[in-house]
Amino acid sequence: MKTLILGAGYAGLATATKMKPTPDLEVLLVERNPYHTFETRLHEAAAHNTRVTLPIEPLLRGTGVNFEQASVDSIDVDAREVTLKDGRVLTYDTLVVGLGSVTNFYRIPGLSDHATELKDVSDADEIFNYVNRIYSAGYTGNRDIVVGGAGLTGVELVTELAQRAQVLSRARGLPPFNIYLVEAGPKILPVLDDALRARAERTLNEYGIHVLTGHRLMEATATGVTVQTADGEQKQLQAGKIIWTGGIQARDIVKGERLEKGPGGRIAVDDYLRAKGYPEVFVVGDMALAHDQGGKPVPTTAQHAGQQGRLTGKNIRSLVKGRELEKYQPNTMGEFVSLGGLMAVGWMKLPWNQKLAMTGGMAHVMKKASEWKWRSSID
Ligand SMILES: Cc1cc2nc3c(=O)[nH]c(=O)nc-3n(C[C@H](O)[C@H](O)[C@H](O)COP(=O)(O)OP(=O)(O)OC[C@H]3O[C@@H](n4cnc5c(N)ncnc54)[C@H](O)[C@@H]3O)c2cc1C
Repeated sequence: MKTLILGAGYAGLATATKMKPTPDLEVLLVERNPYHTFETRLHEAAAHNTRVTLPIEPLLRGTGVNFEQASVDSIDVDAREVTLKDGRVLTYDTLVVGLGSVTNFYRIPGLSDHATELKDVSDADEIFNYVNRIYSAGYTGNRDIVVGGAGLTGVELVTELAQRAQVLSRARGLPPFNIYLVEAGPKILPVLDDALRARAERTLNEYGIHVLTGHRLMEATATGVTVQTADGEQKQLQAGKIIWTGGIQARDIVKGERLEKGPGGRIAVDDYLRAKGYPEVFVVGDMALAHDQGGKPVPTTAQHAGQQGRLTGKNIRSLVKGRELEKYQPNTMGEFVSLGGLMAVGWMKLPWNQKLAMTGGMAHVMKKASEWKWRSSID
């Protein structure tokens, strides 16, 4: 069975590392980078230049999976063909698509031209270099940063940047730059309950971050943004750097007559994570629209991408051995948000569907533990 896995993110890499050399199973992992990116740690790289990548090939030892560094151009699931950017065409019996998501700029004028994203190591480098530049001797431009979107990514980024600003300001004797966190919705971190959100808000206040909830970003230019309140009042925020973390959409790369796509362009999948109408195509991670036991869309998170990948790896081995496939049962183990340094807030799942809320150092340890768990799961 000729199997292609596209993308070595949380979902694709989990699929690949679940493989074992199996007669009649030939697996090729295709990824544009020679490394896996710990996307959940990009905010650390943006603030502190931390290393957040891992070479792929050593992780595939003992799996029987071959690796090809190449960029996918298009996928035609009717023709069962994957076209690479270099023009080569790959065919398959079974396909796993885990190419992740892209930033959604919601067609806000000027935003895609003037805002930096946080999806890739190169985005993190750009932000890190900007902060270094504004602390260099002779810099005279506007030093402030506007971050759009107060979800997990936006909040983790602003707190980490604020911490870096404190360190650099002390070391170089310069005032810290202003950080504006702009959010159209009424609250930051809508995934958290009120008590944890209040703790996160307190940390943002302690850092001096300007939190503008209920402010819609209307336009971005080379020198700043226009925001608007619910009652129509407009304000200009001047900034040397605009960063947009306000939304994602599935990578739009798969074409097929019978494909069903849902909100954010995610591909509807069945109980086994196969694209509806295409039983030979598994879709995993941010690209997949799966539902939980209560009928709600499964969130686009690394923990769910990893679970989906691991199950798909197992199911592909079952397929080749003629065994029954296992159904996907999403399990949200918890949610932790880092708030700079050793501070974090979040909750973990306890038996009987109880939640244990945590703040401070303990939550930080739990956040790190989830990263270590991911790291050991792919070894
Ligand atoms: C800053 C940040 C913080 C986050 N924090 C958390 C968190 O704390 N907890 C959490 O659960 N989730 C978090 N997330 C979300 C999480 O990172 C995503 O849900 C997760 O990465 C999705 O996994 P995936 O495998 O679908 O996609 P990805 O991990 O994005 O992997 C997609 C892979 O496909 C490759 N690829 C893309 N296009 C092509 C192409 N054309 N050809 C070849 N290869 C290609 C990419 O290089 C990448 O390796 C965070 C995201 C960000 C950006």
